[in-house]
Amino acid sequence: MNKQEAKNRIDKLKKQLHEIDYAYYVLDKPVVSDAVRDSLKDELEKLEGQHPELVTPDSPTQRIGGKALGKFQKHKHRIPKYSIDDVFSFEEVVEFDRRVKRFLNLAEAADIEYICELKIDGLNMSYLYKNGILDKAVTRGDGLIGEVVTHTVKTIRSVPLSIKEKRPVEVGGEVFMPKAGFTKMNQEQWKKGGQIFANPRNAAAGTVRQLDPKVAAGRDLDSYMYSYDGPAKLKTHEEVLKILKKLGFKVTSNWKRINSIREAEKVFGYWAKHRSALPFEIDGLVIKVNNLEWQERLGRTAKHIRWAVAYKFAAEQATTVVEAIGVQVGRTGALTPVAHLRPVNLAGSTIRRATLHNQDEIDRLDVRVGDTVVVEKAGDIIPNIIAVLPKLRTGREKKFRLPNQCPICGSPVEQKSGEVAYYCANDQCFAKQQEQFYHFVSRGAFNIDGLGPQILDHLQKADLIEDVADIFKLKEEDLLPLERFAEKSARNLIQSVAASKTISLAKFIFALGIRHVGEETAALLAGQFVSGKLKAGELPQKVKRLDLELVEGIGPKVAQSIIAWFDNSKNIDLLKKFDEVGVAIINQSASVSNKLAGKKFVLTGELEKYTRQEAKDKIKKLGGSVSSSVSKLTDYLVAGAKPGSKYDQAQKLGVTIIEEKEFLRIIK
Ligand code: NAD
Repeated sequence: MNKQEAKNRIDKLKKQLHEIDYAYYVLDKPVVSDAVRDSLKDELEKLEGQHPELVTPDSPTQRIGGKALGKFQKHKHRIPKYSIDDVFSFEEVVEFDRRVKRFLNLAEAADIEYICELKIDGLNMSYLYKNGILDKAVTRGDGLIGEVVTHTVKTIRSVPLSIKEKRPVEVGGEVFMPKAGFTKMNQEQWKKGGQIFANPRNAAAGTVRQLDPKVAAGRDLDSYMYSYDGPAKLKTHEEVLKILKKLGFKVTSNWKRINSIREAEKVFGYWAKHRSALPFEIDGLVIKVNNLEWQERLGRTAKHIRWAVAYKFAAEQATTVVEAIGVQVGRTGALTPVAHLRPVNLAGSTIRRATLHNQDEIDRLDVRVGDTVVVEKAGDIIPNIIAVLPKLRTGREKKFRLPNQCPICGSPVEQKSGEVAYYCANDQCFAKQQEQFYHFVSRGAFNIDGLGPQILDHLQKADLIEDVADIFKLKEEDLLPLERFAEKSARNLIQSVAASKTISLAKFIFALGIRHVGEETAALLAGQFVSGKLKAGELPQKVKRLDLELVEGIGPKVAQSIIAWFDNSKNIDLLKKFDEVGVAIINQSASVSNKLAGKKFVLTGELEKYTRQEAKDKIKKLGGSVSSSVSKLTDYLVAGAKPGSKYDQAQKLGVTIIEEKEFLRIIK
C-alpha cells in the first residue's frame, strides 16, 4: 500500500469508526459487535503506526471513550481516565509483564505480584463522597470530562449514599446490568414498543443517561468498585479492594492475587470456561500490578495506563479484506466459491480463507473482491463471511460470478433441481476424483495411515490409481519409482493399506462419498442390514429392497441421492471391484448395544483416553449419535481439556456437561 492508498484507507476507517463510536457511546445503540469495532481500530492503529505523519488529533485512536452528551452537567476528572490496553493472547500478557519489569528496572526473571479481576462489561463510574455523603456520580465521558449522573446512580441500591469516612473520597467502579435484569428489561421494552438494547453494557449506559431517575429505579442496575482515591495510606491494590469493602462498597469476591504472571493463564482459562455461570457479562480479565508505588511509577502512555492490561476472551469476529475469490471443486463436483482473505487473527488462529457457500450467498451479501468484510468463526469449521462494510469501499471493488465451466476440467457446470449449488458435470474431473480420494482414506472412512493428500496426488498423477478401489491394488514396486518413496516407506504404506482392508459397513458406506451421506446417515443405513460379513457387490440389491424413506433420520432428498448412487452402473462396477481386491466388510451395527439409544452427544476439547474419532465410534457403537453443534436437543456435552465455545453454549441451554471420567463410566 503506497502512502496515498494508506491515507485513503485511514480516512475511510476514521469516518467509519466515528460513526460506530457515536452510535455506541452517545446513542447507546451499537451498530456492530465489539469485535468488529476493535478489529477496525486495530487496522487503523497499525496503519497510523506505519505512517505516523498521517495521525490527526481527531482520530478514534487518539481518543478515550466517547464525547459527553449535551444534556448533563459536566465534571472534569481530577485524574483523567485512561484506557487499558487490550490483548488477546497469553504471549501478549507475558510481553506486558516484560514491559513492566523493563520500566521498573527489574530483572527479567523477577516475579511480580498482580491482581486478576474480572473485566465486567459495563461502564466506568466515579463516585465522589464529601462529608461522608455521595455528592456526585460521574461517567468516564471522553476520559477528561464526564457527565454527572448522580440522579440515576442514586437509585442503584448497592451504591451507599453515605459512608463513615468524612474526608473526601473518590471511588471508581463498574456500573452494569445483570443478565437476568437485562432480559427482563428488554422484554418489557418490547411489550411497550420501547428501545431494545443490544447488550447489557448498552442497556446500563442507556439507563444511567436517562433524565428521569424513575426509569433507572425500575431497572436492575448494580455496581462493583475497584479503585480508591482517599485519605487512607495504602500499599497495594489488594488493600484498595479490602478498604472498599470495609467502607461498605460492593466488591466482587472473584479477584485473585497471583505471584507471577505465569499464573494468569490458569485464571484466564478458568473464567473462559465458567464465565457463563456468572450472573453478569465479562469480556476478559484486568490484570493489575499489585504494588501501588509501582503503579504510580509506571504511569501511562498517551492513551493507556502502563500498570494494567485487559486480557480479553477470543473474539469470534474480525474484519479483513477479500483479496480474491477462488472456486473449489468438491468431491461431489460442487463448485464452492472461497474468499481469499488478507490474513487476520480470529479466535487465536490466522485466517486466510472463508467459504462463501454458493452464488446465492455472494449475491445476498453482495460481496465483491476488494471489500472489507466481517468474518466469523462457527464451531471448528472454516469461517464464514457474515457481512460487508460497504462504507469502506473505494469504488474499485469487483463483483464476482461463478464460472459456467469447471475451473479444473473445463466441462460445463449444471445446477441440480432444488439446489443452489452448481456442479461440474464431468465424472472424471480431476478435482472431483482428488477430493474423493482424500475422503476415502480419511479418519471416519478407511482411515489409512500414512496415505495423505500429497501422496494421493502423486499416485493419481502417476496414473497408479484411477478409482478408490485401485488403492488396494498398489504394490511396493509401484511406489518405489516415485520420488517420495524408499523401500521402507513403500513397505509401510502397503502394510497400512492392507491393514485397513477390513472395515465396518457404516464406515464403508461413508467412504463411498455419496452426496448428503455423512457419518450419521451411513450408520443409520448400515443399521438396516443384518450383522455379519457382507460383499460390496451385494449392496445395490440390498439397498433396493429397503424403503429408505421409512428409515428414521433419512429424508427424501438423502434417500434420492442414495438410490441414484446405487443405480449408477459405474458405481456398481466399483463395488464389485472392492470384492475383487479383497475388501472385507463386516456389519457390526445389528449387534450394537442399545445402551445409548437415542442419546445425542456433542464433543468439545481434548480427551485423554480417546481421539475424537474413537470417542465418536464408541458412542455410535452403543446406539448414540454425535453432532457437531450444541442445541436444545443435545443430551450430553462431553468436555475434555481446553473446551471451546460449545461449552458456553451448552451451559446457556442447560445441556448436561460431563467430563471425561464420567464419559468413560457411561461407555464402559
Ligand atoms: P477499555 O478497553 O479501555 O477498558 C477500560 C474499561 O474497562 C474501564 O473504563 C472500565 O469501564 C472497564 N472495566 C471493567 N472491569 C474493570 C476492572 N475490574 N478494572 C478496571 N476497569 C474495568 O474500555 P473503552 O476504551 O471504554 O472501550 C473499549 C470497549 O468498548 C471495547 O471493548 C470496544 O469493543 C467497545 N466499543 C464497542 C463499540 C461498538 O460499536 N460495538 C464502539 C466503541 C467501543
